[in-house]
Amino acid sequence: MSKPTFALDLDGIVCDWDRGVRLCLKRHLGVEIKEKVSPFWSYVDSQLTPEQTKWLWTEGILKGMYTLGGLYPDTAEAVARLRRETRFTILTMRPLVVERLTLKYLWHKLGIPPEEVFFILPDGDKADFVADIYLEDSPVQLANLTHVNGATVLGWKRRWNEDLRAWRGIRWVDSWKGVFENI
Ligand SMILES: [Mg+2]
Repeated sequence: MSKPTFALDLDGIVCDWDRGVRLCLKRHLGVEIKEKVSPFWSYVDSQLTPEQTKWLWTEGILKGMYTLGGLYPDTAEAVARLRRETRFTILTMRPLVVERLTLKYLWHKLGIPPEEVFFILPDGDKADFVADIYLEDSPVQLANLTHVNGATVLGWKRRWNEDLRAWRGIRWVDSWKGVFENI
């Protein structure tokens, strides 16, 4: 049997963006975000002034928003196994301005070569990238991916996607064990 194609989201699954963005805001602007884990998708932006939001999405993205949070636990082992057992791609909507930073980070931290990383433009739709299995945490992209014919859509349970739990066509997981049970 040929290996399934596997599209792995980056932030919220591999990298702890939610933690990184808080550390970035604290370090550079002295801003403390009240809730430690975002209760909804755009929570961090909703806590900032327009000027702070502008800083975050221009300078902040190059000053640790994507790196300070580090990796979620057990990610290195899981990614190594996915790279062995699937035809593997990182599928991310990070802005292209952080492409170099992202490619270097993934290579040094996880040994993922640049040809295994695919960027979808920030206003795009991940369903345009066809895969057998997707692992995702974004509510909008999870909903989009349920339209890919025949694909398995795995949603990693996070506080910010609770509203989607009843959505048809998503299999929910909260561990790498759960992910591998669905491959
Ligand atoms: Mg994500």
